[in-house]
Amino acid sequence: MSEQITGQITVAGVAVDTRHWIGGRRAASARTFTDLSPIDGSALGEIARGGQAEVDAAVTAAQDAFPGWAATPRAGRAAVLRAIAEGVEKRLEELAAVETADNGALLRSHRRGVMPRVAHNFRFFADWLESLGHDDFDTRGHANHVSWDPAGPCALITPWNAPLMLATWKIAPALAAGDTVVLKPAEWSPLTASLLADIAAAAGLPDGVLNVVQGLGAEAGAALVEHPGIRRISFTGSVPTARRIARSAAANLTPLSLELGGKSPLLVFADADLDLAVDLAVEQYDNAGQVCLAATRLLVESPIAEEFTRRFTERAAALVQGDPREEATDVGPNIHPRQVDKIDGFVRRALAAGARAVVGGERGDGLYYRPTLLTDVAQDSEIVQEEVFGPVLTLQTFDTEEEAVRMANDTRFGLAATVATGDRERARRVTERLVAGTVWVNCFFVRDLRAPFGGSRESGVGREGGTWSFDFYCDLKNTVTAPKGWSDHG
Ligand code: NAD
Repeated sequence: MSEQITGQITVAGVAVDTRHWIGGRRAASARTFTDLSPIDGSALGEIARGGQAEVDAAVTAAQDAFPGWAATPRAGRAAVLRAIAEGVEKRLEELAAVETADNGALLRSHRRGVMPRVAHNFRFFADWLESLGHDDFDTRGHANHVSWDPAGPCALITPWNAPLMLATWKIAPALAAGDTVVLKPAEWSPLTASLLADIAAAAGLPDGVLNVVQGLGAEAGAALVEHPGIRRISFTGSVPTARRIARSAAANLTPLSLELGGKSPLLVFADADLDLAVDLAVEQYDNAGQVCLAATRLLVESPIAEEFTRRFTERAAALVQGDPREEATDVGPNIHPRQVDKIDGFVRRALAAGARAVVGGERGDGLYYRPTLLTDVAQDSEIVQEEVFGPVLTLQTFDTEEEAVRMANDTRFGLAATVATGDRERARRVTERLVAGTVWVNCFFVRDLRAPFGGSRESGVGREGGTWSFDFYCDLKNTVTAPKGWSDHG
Protein backbone atom coordinates (compact mmCIF):
# COMPACT_ATOMS: atom_id res chain seq x y z
CA MET A 1 0.00 0.00 0.00
CA SER A 2 1.22 3.50 -0.64
CA GLU A 3 0.14 7.07 -0.40
CA GLN A 4 -3.53 7.82 -0.84
CA ILE A 5 -4.27 8.50 -4.48
CA THR A 6 -7.90 7.54 -4.44
CA GLY A 7 -10.60 8.77 -2.17
CA GLN A 8 -14.17 9.86 -2.37
CA ILE A 9 -16.34 9.97 -5.45
CA THR A 10 -19.97 11.00 -5.72
CA VAL A 11 -22.33 8.55 -7.40
CA ALA A 12 -26.05 9.27 -7.72
CA GLY A 13 -25.52 12.07 -5.20
CA VAL A 14 -23.94 9.71 -2.65
CA ALA A 15 -20.35 10.01 -1.41
CA VAL A 16 -18.55 6.68 -1.83
CA ASP A 17 -15.03 5.95 -0.65
CA THR A 18 -13.08 4.14 -3.35
CA ARG A 19 -10.35 2.86 -1.05
CA HIS A 20 -10.08 -0.44 0.79
CA TRP A 21 -11.43 -0.85 4.31
CA ILE A 22 -8.84 -2.64 6.41
CA GLY A 23 -8.74 -2.89 10.21
CA GLY A 24 -11.28 -0.08 10.57
CA ARG A 25 -9.36 2.37 8.37
CA ARG A 26 -9.39 3.43 4.76
CA ALA A 27 -6.31 2.41 2.80
CA ALA A 28 -5.34 3.37 -0.74
CA SER A 29 -3.26 1.54 -3.33
CA ALA A 30 -0.68 2.88 -5.75
CA ARG A 31 -2.73 1.49 -8.63
CA THR A 32 -6.40 1.90 -9.49
CA PHE A 33 -8.94 0.53 -11.93
CA THR A 34 -11.81 2.38 -13.58
CA ASP A 35 -15.38 1.60 -12.58
CA LEU A 36 -17.89 2.09 -15.43
CA SER A 37 -21.64 2.60 -15.22
CA PRO A 38 -23.49 0.22 -17.55
CA ILE A 39 -26.28 2.78 -17.92
CA ASP A 40 -24.29 4.98 -20.27
CA GLY A 41 -20.76 3.58 -20.18
CA SER A 42 -19.49 6.60 -18.25
CA ALA A 43 -16.63 6.32 -15.75
CA LEU A 44 -17.85 6.49 -12.16
CA GLY A 45 -14.37 6.74 -10.69
CA GLU A 46 -11.02 5.19 -9.97
CA ILE A 47 -11.09 2.36 -7.46
CA ALA A 48 -8.16 1.16 -5.34
CA ARG A 49 -6.57 -1.88 -6.94
CA GLY A 50 -5.35 -4.15 -4.20
CA GLY A 51 -2.88 -7.01 -4.43
CA GLN A 52 -0.78 -9.16 -2.12
CA ALA A 53 0.15 -6.34 0.29
CA GLU A 54 -3.44 -5.20 0.81
CA VAL A 55 -4.65 -8.79 1.21
CA ASP A 56 -1.90 -9.52 3.75
CA ALA A 57 -2.88 -6.42 5.72
CA ALA A 58 -6.59 -7.33 5.61
CA VAL A 59 -6.04 -10.94 6.68
CA THR A 60 -3.80 -9.77 9.52
CA ALA A 61 -6.52 -7.34 10.62
CA ALA A 62 -9.09 -10.15 10.46
CA GLN A 63 -6.80 -12.45 12.48
CA ASP A 64 -6.19 -9.76 15.11
CA ALA A 65 -9.91 -9.01 15.45
CA PHE A 66 -10.94 -12.67 15.57
CA PRO A 67 -10.39 -13.56 19.27
CA GLY A 68 -12.37 -10.54 20.48
CA TRP A 69 -15.28 -11.01 18.10
CA ALA A 70 -15.38 -14.78 18.62
CA ALA A 71 -15.56 -14.22 22.39
CA THR A 72 -18.35 -11.64 22.11
CA PRO A 73 -21.48 -13.19 23.62
CA ARG A 74 -24.18 -14.21 21.14
CA ALA A 75 -26.48 -11.40 22.25
CA GLY A 76 -23.72 -8.86 21.60
CA ARG A 77 -23.01 -10.14 18.10
CA ALA A 78 -26.73 -10.30 17.32
CA ALA A 79 -27.19 -6.70 18.49
CA VAL A 80 -24.49 -5.47 16.10
CA LEU A 81 -26.00 -7.42 13.20
CA ARG A 82 -29.39 -5.84 13.92
CA ALA A 83 -27.78 -2.40 14.06
CA ILE A 84 -26.24 -3.06 10.63
CA ALA A 85 -29.70 -4.04 9.32
CA GLU A 86 -31.05 -0.74 10.63
CA GLY A 87 -28.17 1.13 9.01
CA VAL A 88 -28.95 -0.53 5.69
CA GLU A 89 -32.61 0.46 6.02
CA LYS A 90 -31.70 4.03 6.88
CA ARG A 91 -29.54 4.30 3.77
CA LEU A 92 -31.73 2.09 1.57
CA GLU A 93 -32.41 4.75 -1.07
CA GLU A 94 -28.72 5.60 -1.33
CA LEU A 95 -27.68 1.96 -1.56
CA ALA A 96 -30.31 1.30 -4.24
CA ALA A 97 -29.26 4.31 -6.33
CA VAL A 98 -25.53 3.54 -6.10
CA GLU A 99 -26.05 -0.15 -6.94
CA THR A 100 -28.14 0.76 -10.00
CA ALA A 101 -25.52 3.24 -11.21
CA ASP A 102 -22.83 0.62 -10.66
CA ASN A 103 -24.36 -2.58 -12.07
CA GLY A 104 -27.33 -1.34 -14.12
CA ALA A 105 -29.99 -3.49 -12.44
CA LEU A 106 -33.44 -1.92 -12.03
CA LEU A 107 -33.71 0.79 -9.38
CA ARG A 108 -37.23 -0.33 -8.47
CA SER A 109 -35.98 -3.88 -7.79
CA HIS A 110 -33.16 -2.57 -5.64
CA ARG A 111 -35.55 -0.39 -3.66
CA ARG A 112 -38.32 -2.87 -3.13
CA GLY A 113 -36.69 -6.28 -3.26
CA VAL A 114 -32.93 -6.37 -3.04
CA MET A 115 -32.00 -3.82 -0.35
CA PRO A 116 -34.76 -4.89 2.06
CA ARG A 117 -33.39 -8.40 1.60
CA VAL A 118 -29.87 -7.13 2.43
CA ALA A 119 -31.20 -5.86 5.76
CA HIS A 120 -33.10 -9.11 6.23
CA ASN A 121 -29.90 -11.14 5.74
CA PHE A 122 -28.47 -9.52 8.89
CA ARG A 123 -31.67 -9.79 10.95
CA PHE A 124 -32.21 -13.38 9.90
CA PHE A 125 -28.78 -14.50 11.09
CA ALA A 126 -29.04 -12.41 14.28
CA ASP A 127 -32.24 -14.33 15.08
CA TRP A 128 -30.60 -17.59 14.02
CA LEU A 129 -27.71 -17.05 16.39
CA GLU A 130 -29.96 -16.32 19.32
CA SER A 131 -32.25 -19.25 18.70
CA LEU A 132 -29.37 -21.70 18.33
CA GLY A 133 -30.20 -24.49 20.75
CA HIS A 134 -28.02 -26.95 22.53
CA ASP A 135 -27.65 -30.25 20.81
CA ASP A 136 -27.01 -32.38 23.88
CA PHE A 137 -27.58 -36.12 24.23
CA ASP A 138 -26.49 -39.06 26.29
CA THR A 139 -24.33 -42.09 25.36
CA ARG A 140 -24.24 -44.79 28.06
CA GLY A 141 -24.29 -42.14 30.76
CA HIS A 142 -21.77 -39.92 28.95
CA ALA A 143 -22.99 -36.42 28.11
CA ASN A 144 -22.47 -35.22 24.51
CA HIS A 145 -22.39 -31.47 24.02
CA VAL A 146 -22.29 -30.05 20.49
CA SER A 147 -20.95 -26.54 20.07
CA TRP A 148 -20.62 -24.21 17.10
CA ASP A 149 -17.14 -22.72 17.49
CA PRO A 150 -16.16 -19.78 15.28
CA ALA A 151 -13.79 -20.90 12.51
CA GLY A 152 -11.59 -17.83 11.96
CA PRO A 153 -10.99 -15.33 9.14
CA CYS A 154 -13.06 -16.02 6.00
CA ALA A 155 -12.43 -15.02 2.38
CA LEU A 156 -15.62 -13.96 0.62
CA ILE A 157 -15.54 -13.46 -3.15
CA THR A 158 -18.63 -12.20 -4.94
CA PRO A 159 -19.92 -11.42 -8.46
CA TRP A 160 -21.46 -8.27 -9.94
CA ASN A 161 -25.00 -9.34 -10.79
CA ALA A 162 -26.40 -8.84 -7.27
CA PRO A 163 -23.38 -7.39 -5.45
CA LEU A 164 -24.60 -6.37 -2.01
CA MET A 165 -27.26 -9.05 -1.73
CA LEU A 166 -24.77 -11.85 -2.44
CA ALA A 167 -22.03 -10.33 -0.28
CA THR A 168 -24.29 -9.95 2.75
CA TRP A 169 -25.72 -13.45 2.22
CA LYS A 170 -22.19 -14.55 3.19
CA ILE A 171 -21.13 -11.76 5.57
CA ALA A 172 -24.17 -12.07 7.86
CA PRO A 173 -23.81 -15.78 8.74
CA ALA A 174 -20.02 -15.47 9.01
CA LEU A 175 -20.26 -12.59 11.49
CA ALA A 176 -23.08 -14.32 13.35
CA ALA A 177 -20.88 -17.39 13.71
CA GLY A 178 -18.15 -15.25 15.32
CA ASP A 179 -15.85 -15.22 12.29
CA THR A 180 -14.09 -12.22 10.80
CA VAL A 181 -14.15 -11.61 7.06
CA VAL A 182 -12.24 -10.19 4.13
CA LEU A 183 -14.58 -9.38 1.24
CA LYS A 184 -13.29 -9.00 -2.32
CA PRO A 185 -16.20 -7.53 -4.31
CA ALA A 186 -16.44 -7.89 -8.08
CA GLU A 187 -14.41 -5.25 -9.93
CA TRP A 188 -17.37 -4.38 -12.18
CA SER A 189 -19.54 -3.36 -9.18
CA PRO A 190 -17.33 -2.42 -6.22
CA LEU A 191 -19.24 0.48 -4.69
CA THR A 192 -21.94 -0.77 -2.31
CA ALA A 193 -19.40 -2.93 -0.45
CA SER A 194 -17.65 0.29 0.49
CA LEU A 195 -20.92 1.80 1.75
CA LEU A 196 -21.55 -1.36 3.77
CA ALA A 197 -18.19 -0.89 5.49
CA ASP A 198 -19.32 2.61 6.57
CA ILE A 199 -22.66 1.25 7.76
CA ALA A 200 -21.04 -1.59 9.73
CA ALA A 201 -18.58 0.78 11.41
CA ALA A 202 -21.41 3.15 12.36
CA ALA A 203 -23.34 0.15 13.76
CA GLY A 204 -20.48 -0.60 16.16
CA LEU A 205 -18.85 -3.57 14.43
CA PRO A 206 -15.33 -3.69 15.91
CA ASP A 207 -12.41 -2.76 13.66
CA GLY A 208 -11.03 -5.63 11.61
CA VAL A 209 -14.14 -7.83 11.83
CA LEU A 210 -15.22 -6.80 8.31
CA ASN A 211 -12.53 -5.86 5.80
CA VAL A 212 -13.03 -4.95 2.15
CA VAL A 213 -10.19 -5.28 -0.36
CA GLN A 214 -11.02 -3.87 -3.78
CA GLY A 215 -9.29 -5.15 -6.87
CA LEU A 216 -9.18 -7.59 -9.75
CA GLY A 217 -9.86 -11.29 -9.43
CA ALA A 218 -6.46 -12.42 -10.68
CA GLU A 219 -4.70 -10.09 -8.22
CA ALA A 220 -6.62 -9.37 -5.00
CA GLY A 221 -8.95 -12.37 -5.38
CA ALA A 222 -6.19 -14.88 -6.07
CA ALA A 223 -3.99 -13.55 -3.23
CA LEU A 224 -6.90 -13.81 -0.81
CA VAL A 225 -7.91 -17.40 -1.54
CA GLU A 226 -4.25 -18.52 -1.44
CA HIS A 227 -3.66 -16.94 1.96
CA PRO A 228 -2.83 -19.54 4.65
CA GLY A 229 -4.52 -17.39 7.33
CA ILE A 230 -7.93 -17.96 5.76
CA ARG A 231 -10.12 -20.62 7.42
CA ARG A 232 -13.11 -20.57 5.03
CA ILE A 233 -13.58 -19.55 1.39
CA SER A 234 -17.05 -18.74 0.16
CA PHE A 235 -17.29 -17.94 -3.54
CA THR A 236 -20.15 -17.01 -5.85
CA GLY A 237 -19.25 -16.68 -9.51
CA SER A 238 -18.36 -18.61 -12.61
CA VAL A 239 -17.21 -22.20 -13.02
CA PRO A 240 -13.73 -21.42 -14.47
CA THR A 241 -12.94 -19.12 -11.52
CA ALA A 242 -14.26 -21.75 -9.11
CA ARG A 243 -11.80 -24.29 -10.50
CA ARG A 244 -8.90 -21.88 -9.85
CA ILE A 245 -10.12 -21.14 -6.34
CA ALA A 246 -10.59 -24.83 -5.56
CA ARG A 247 -6.96 -25.45 -6.56
CA SER A 248 -5.81 -22.68 -4.20
CA ALA A 249 -8.01 -24.02 -1.42
CA ALA A 250 -6.48 -27.47 -1.88
CA ALA A 251 -3.01 -26.16 -0.97
CA ASN A 252 -4.17 -25.17 2.53
CA LEU A 253 -7.11 -27.60 2.70
CA THR A 254 -9.35 -24.58 3.29
CA PRO A 255 -13.03 -25.59 3.42
CA LEU A 256 -14.94 -23.92 0.61
CA SER A 257 -18.43 -23.21 -0.58
CA LEU A 258 -19.05 -22.62 -4.30
CA GLU A 259 -22.22 -21.08 -5.78
CA LEU A 260 -21.79 -21.19 -9.54
CA GLY A 261 -23.57 -20.83 -12.84
CA GLY A 262 -26.54 -22.58 -14.35
CA LYS A 263 -28.50 -23.35 -17.48
CA SER A 264 -31.80 -24.00 -15.83
CA PRO A 265 -34.91 -25.27 -17.63
CA LEU A 266 -38.53 -24.14 -17.54
CA LEU A 267 -40.72 -27.13 -18.40
CA VAL A 268 -44.13 -26.15 -19.76
CA PHE A 269 -46.62 -29.00 -20.01
CA ALA A 270 -49.72 -28.83 -22.18
CA ASP A 271 -51.90 -28.98 -19.05
CA ALA A 272 -50.35 -25.80 -17.61
CA ASP A 273 -52.09 -22.47 -17.16
CA LEU A 274 -50.65 -20.96 -20.33
CA ASP A 275 -50.79 -17.32 -19.22
CA LEU A 276 -48.92 -18.24 -16.06
CA ALA A 277 -46.35 -20.21 -18.04
CA VAL A 278 -45.77 -17.26 -20.38
CA ASP A 279 -45.41 -14.93 -17.37
CA LEU A 280 -42.81 -17.27 -15.88
CA ALA A 281 -40.92 -17.40 -19.18
CA VAL A 282 -40.86 -13.63 -19.71
CA GLU A 283 -39.68 -13.18 -16.12
CA GLN A 284 -36.41 -14.83 -17.18
CA TYR A 285 -35.35 -11.52 -18.77
CA ASP A 286 -35.15 -9.99 -15.27
CA ASN A 287 -31.86 -8.24 -14.54
CA ALA A 288 -31.20 -8.41 -18.31
CA GLY A 289 -30.78 -12.16 -17.93
CA GLN A 290 -27.91 -11.80 -15.47
CA VAL A 291 -29.39 -14.15 -12.89
CA CYS A 292 -27.67 -17.40 -12.03
CA LEU A 293 -31.03 -19.10 -11.48
CA ALA A 294 -32.60 -17.93 -14.74
CA ALA A 295 -34.56 -20.60 -16.57
CA THR A 296 -32.96 -19.87 -19.91
CA ARG A 297 -34.07 -23.11 -21.57
CA LEU A 298 -37.78 -23.11 -22.30
CA LEU A 299 -38.95 -26.70 -22.86
CA VAL A 300 -42.50 -26.68 -24.16
CA GLU A 301 -44.80 -29.64 -24.90
CA SER A 302 -45.30 -29.84 -28.68
CA PRO A 303 -49.11 -29.34 -28.94
CA ILE A 304 -48.95 -25.94 -27.22
CA ALA A 305 -45.60 -24.75 -28.57
CA GLU A 306 -47.06 -22.57 -31.32
CA GLU A 307 -49.57 -20.84 -29.06
CA PHE A 308 -46.96 -20.45 -26.29
CA THR A 309 -44.52 -18.87 -28.74
CA ARG A 310 -47.19 -16.50 -30.06
CA ARG A 311 -48.14 -15.28 -26.59
CA PHE A 312 -44.52 -15.11 -25.45
CA THR A 313 -43.54 -13.03 -28.50
CA GLU A 314 -46.40 -10.63 -27.83
CA ARG A 315 -45.37 -10.24 -24.20
CA ALA A 316 -41.68 -9.86 -25.00
CA ALA A 317 -42.46 -7.15 -27.56
CA ALA A 318 -44.22 -5.16 -24.83
CA LEU A 319 -41.17 -5.17 -22.52
CA VAL A 320 -39.69 -1.73 -21.99
CA GLN A 321 -35.94 -1.69 -22.39
CA GLY A 322 -34.04 1.34 -21.22
CA ASP A 323 -32.66 3.35 -18.33
CA PRO A 324 -32.86 1.17 -15.18
CA ARG A 325 -33.57 4.26 -13.07
CA GLU A 326 -36.96 4.71 -14.77
CA GLU A 327 -39.93 3.12 -13.03
CA ALA A 328 -41.39 1.84 -16.33
CA THR A 329 -38.25 -0.02 -17.42
CA ASP A 330 -38.39 -3.82 -17.48
CA VAL A 331 -35.00 -4.66 -18.96
CA GLY A 332 -31.87 -2.60 -18.32
CA PRO A 333 -28.35 -2.77 -19.71
CA ASN A 334 -25.81 -5.55 -19.38
CA ILE A 335 -22.89 -4.98 -17.09
CA HIS A 336 -19.85 -4.32 -19.30
CA PRO A 337 -18.78 -4.05 -22.96
CA ARG A 338 -16.94 -7.37 -22.59
CA GLN A 339 -20.12 -9.06 -21.34
CA VAL A 340 -22.20 -7.65 -24.24
CA ASP A 341 -19.59 -8.93 -26.72
CA LYS A 342 -19.75 -12.32 -25.04
CA ILE A 343 -23.56 -12.43 -25.24
CA ASP A 344 -23.53 -11.38 -28.89
CA GLY A 345 -20.88 -13.99 -29.67
CA PHE A 346 -23.16 -16.73 -28.29
CA VAL A 347 -26.09 -15.47 -30.37
CA ARG A 348 -24.08 -15.04 -33.59
CA ARG A 349 -22.66 -18.57 -33.31
CA ALA A 350 -26.12 -20.01 -32.60
CA LEU A 351 -27.61 -18.24 -35.63
CA ALA A 352 -24.72 -19.45 -37.79
CA ALA A 353 -25.46 -22.98 -36.59
CA GLY A 354 -29.07 -22.71 -37.80
CA ALA A 355 -30.98 -21.17 -34.89
CA ARG A 356 -33.83 -18.76 -35.62
CA ALA A 357 -34.33 -15.54 -33.61
CA VAL A 358 -38.06 -15.38 -32.94
CA VAL A 359 -37.50 -12.41 -30.66
CA GLY A 360 -34.49 -10.03 -30.69
CA GLY A 361 -31.18 -11.57 -31.65
CA GLU A 362 -29.13 -8.39 -31.78
CA ARG A 363 -27.53 -5.59 -29.80
CA GLY A 364 -29.43 -2.47 -28.87
CA ASP A 365 -27.70 0.85 -28.17
CA GLY A 366 -24.78 1.05 -25.76
CA LEU A 367 -24.71 -1.89 -23.37
CA TYR A 368 -28.33 -2.87 -24.01
CA TYR A 369 -28.91 -6.27 -25.61
CA ARG A 370 -32.32 -7.00 -27.09
CA PRO A 371 -34.31 -9.65 -25.20
CA THR A 372 -33.86 -12.69 -27.41
CA LEU A 373 -35.61 -16.00 -27.99
CA LEU A 374 -33.93 -18.58 -30.21
CA THR A 375 -35.63 -21.65 -31.65
CA ASP A 376 -34.37 -24.47 -33.89
CA VAL A 377 -31.54 -25.22 -31.49
CA ALA A 378 -30.00 -28.66 -30.98
CA GLN A 379 -29.76 -30.17 -27.50
CA ASP A 380 -25.99 -30.56 -27.81
CA SER A 381 -25.40 -27.06 -29.23
CA GLU A 382 -23.39 -24.43 -27.39
CA ILE A 383 -26.41 -22.15 -26.94
CA VAL A 384 -28.33 -24.92 -25.12
CA GLN A 385 -25.39 -26.16 -23.07
CA GLU A 386 -23.50 -23.02 -22.00
CA GLU A 387 -24.49 -20.20 -19.66
CA VAL A 388 -24.87 -16.93 -21.63
CA PHE A 389 -25.64 -14.65 -18.65
CA GLY A 390 -27.62 -12.22 -20.76
CA PRO A 391 -31.24 -11.83 -21.99
CA VAL A 392 -31.09 -14.86 -24.27
CA LEU A 393 -33.52 -17.78 -24.01
CA THR A 394 -33.89 -20.86 -26.16
CA LEU A 395 -37.10 -22.75 -26.91
CA GLN A 396 -37.22 -26.49 -27.55
CA THR A 397 -40.20 -28.81 -27.71
CA PHE A 398 -40.83 -32.24 -26.21
CA ASP A 399 -43.47 -34.91 -26.73
CA THR A 400 -43.44 -36.93 -23.53
CA GLU A 401 -42.78 -36.38 -19.83
CA GLU A 402 -39.84 -38.75 -20.12
CA GLU A 403 -38.29 -36.66 -22.88
CA ALA A 404 -38.92 -33.43 -20.95
CA VAL A 405 -37.05 -34.71 -17.89
CA ARG A 406 -34.21 -36.06 -20.00
CA MET A 407 -33.75 -32.74 -21.81
CA ALA A 408 -34.07 -30.77 -18.56
CA ASN A 409 -31.29 -32.81 -16.92
CA ASP A 410 -29.05 -32.88 -19.99
CA THR A 411 -26.47 -30.19 -19.17
CA ARG A 412 -23.48 -30.18 -16.82
CA PHE A 413 -25.32 -27.79 -14.47
CA GLY A 414 -27.96 -28.38 -11.80
CA LEU A 415 -28.81 -25.08 -10.15
CA ALA A 416 -32.58 -24.71 -10.55
CA ALA A 417 -35.61 -25.86 -12.54
CA THR A 418 -39.15 -24.57 -12.97
CA VAL A 419 -42.16 -26.66 -13.86
CA ALA A 420 -45.47 -25.33 -15.19
CA THR A 421 -48.24 -27.92 -15.03
CA GLY A 422 -51.84 -28.18 -13.89
CA ASP A 423 -51.40 -31.78 -12.75
CA ARG A 424 -50.20 -32.31 -9.16
CA GLU A 425 -49.22 -35.92 -9.77
CA ARG A 426 -47.14 -34.94 -12.76
CA ALA A 427 -45.50 -32.18 -10.72
CA ARG A 428 -44.53 -34.72 -8.08
CA ARG A 429 -43.17 -37.24 -10.60
CA VAL A 430 -41.21 -34.66 -12.55
CA THR A 431 -39.74 -32.70 -9.64
CA GLU A 432 -38.50 -35.92 -8.03
CA ARG A 433 -36.41 -36.65 -11.10
CA LEU A 434 -34.99 -33.19 -11.80
CA VAL A 435 -31.35 -32.58 -10.92
CA ALA A 436 -31.44 -29.11 -9.34
CA GLY A 437 -30.78 -27.41 -6.01
CA THR A 438 -34.08 -25.51 -6.23
CA VAL A 439 -37.24 -26.54 -8.08
CA TRP A 440 -40.22 -24.21 -8.46
CA VAL A 441 -43.67 -25.44 -9.47
CA ASN A 442 -45.93 -22.85 -11.12
CA CYS A 443 -43.82 -20.06 -9.61
CA PHE A 444 -40.34 -18.61 -9.84
CA PHE A 445 -37.80 -16.96 -7.53
CA VAL A 446 -39.73 -17.47 -4.30
CA ARG A 447 -36.93 -17.78 -1.78
CA ASP A 448 -36.80 -18.28 1.96
CA LEU A 449 -33.58 -17.78 3.89
CA ARG A 450 -34.26 -20.97 5.83
CA ALA A 451 -34.15 -23.12 2.69
CA PRO A 452 -30.99 -24.72 1.33
CA PHE A 453 -29.75 -22.89 -1.74
CA GLY A 454 -27.10 -24.06 -4.16
CA GLY A 455 -26.36 -26.21 -7.12
CA SER A 456 -25.70 -29.79 -8.05
CA ARG A 457 -23.09 -30.95 -10.58
CA GLU A 458 -21.03 -27.98 -11.85
CA SER A 459 -23.45 -25.46 -10.35
CA GLY A 460 -21.73 -25.67 -7.03
CA VAL A 461 -20.35 -27.32 -3.95
CA GLY A 462 -22.32 -27.08 -0.72
CA ARG A 463 -25.44 -25.12 0.11
CA GLU A 464 -26.12 -21.70 1.60
CA GLY A 465 -29.13 -20.63 3.65
CA GLY A 466 -30.18 -21.13 7.28
CA THR A 467 -28.35 -23.94 8.96
CA TRP A 468 -26.21 -24.70 5.88
CA SER A 469 -24.67 -21.21 5.83
CA PHE A 470 -24.27 -21.01 9.56
CA ASP A 471 -22.68 -24.43 10.01
CA PHE A 472 -20.25 -23.77 7.14
CA TYR A 473 -18.74 -20.85 9.05
CA CYS A 474 -18.37 -22.86 12.27
CA ASP A 475 -15.98 -25.49 13.54
CA LEU A 476 -18.48 -27.92 14.99
CA LYS A 477 -17.27 -29.60 18.14
CA ASN A 478 -18.67 -32.50 20.15
CA THR A 479 -17.54 -32.73 23.78
CA VAL A 480 -18.19 -36.05 25.54
CA THR A 481 -18.04 -35.99 29.33
CA ALA A 482 -17.94 -39.14 31.45
CA PRO A 483 -20.16 -39.44 34.53
CA LYS A 484 -17.20 -40.45 36.67
CA GLY A 485 -13.79 -39.01 37.50
CA TRP A 486 -14.91 -35.88 39.36
CA SER A 487 -12.95 -35.10 42.48
CA ASP A 488 -16.11 -33.76 44.16
CA HIS A 489 -18.02 -36.99 43.31
CA GLY A 490 -20.94 -34.70 42.52
P1 NAD B 1 -16.37 -14.46 -12.06
O1 NAD B 1 -16.06 -15.86 -11.69
O2 NAD B 1 -15.72 -13.88 -13.26
O3 NAD B 1 -16.02 -13.47 -10.86
C1 NAD B 1 -16.57 -13.61 -9.57
C2 NAD B 1 -15.62 -13.03 -8.55
O4 NAD B 1 -14.43 -13.81 -8.54
C3 NAD B 1 -15.19 -11.59 -8.82
O5 NAD B 1 -15.12 -10.90 -7.60
C4 NAD B 1 -13.81 -11.77 -9.41
O6 NAD B 1 -12.98 -10.65 -9.22
C5 NAD B 1 -13.30 -12.95 -8.62
N1 NAD B 1 -12.20 -13.69 -9.24
C6 NAD B 1 -11.91 -13.81 -10.56
N2 NAD B 1 -10.80 -14.56 -10.73
C7 NAD B 1 -10.37 -14.92 -9.49
C8 NAD B 1 -9.30 -15.72 -9.00
N3 NAD B 1 -8.42 -16.29 -9.82
N4 NAD B 1 -9.18 -15.91 -7.68
C9 NAD B 1 -10.09 -15.36 -6.82
N5 NAD B 1 -11.12 -14.58 -7.23
C10 NAD B 1 -11.26 -14.38 -8.55
O7 NAD B 1 -17.95 -14.38 -12.17
P2 NAD B 1 -18.82 -13.13 -12.61
O8 NAD B 1 -18.73 -12.99 -14.09
O9 NAD B 1 -18.49 -11.97 -11.73
O10 NAD B 1 -20.28 -13.62 -12.19
C11 NAD B 1 -21.12 -14.31 -13.03
C12 NAD B 1 -21.17 -15.77 -12.65
O11 NAD B 1 -21.60 -15.92 -11.31
C13 NAD B 1 -22.17 -16.54 -13.48
O12 NAD B 1 -21.63 -17.78 -13.85
C14 NAD B 1 -23.33 -16.73 -12.52
O13 NAD B 1 -24.17 -17.82 -12.81
C15 NAD B 1 -22.62 -16.89 -11.23
N6 NAD B 1 -23.52 -16.62 -10.11
C16 NAD B 1 -23.92 -17.66 -9.32
C17 NAD B 1 -24.80 -17.45 -8.27
C18 NAD B 1 -25.25 -18.57 -7.37
O14 NAD B 1 -25.71 -18.30 -6.29
N7 NAD B 1 -25.13 -19.82 -7.78
C19 NAD B 1 -25.27 -16.15 -8.01
C20 NAD B 1 -24.85 -15.12 -8.84
C21 NAD B 1 -23.97 -15.37 -9.88
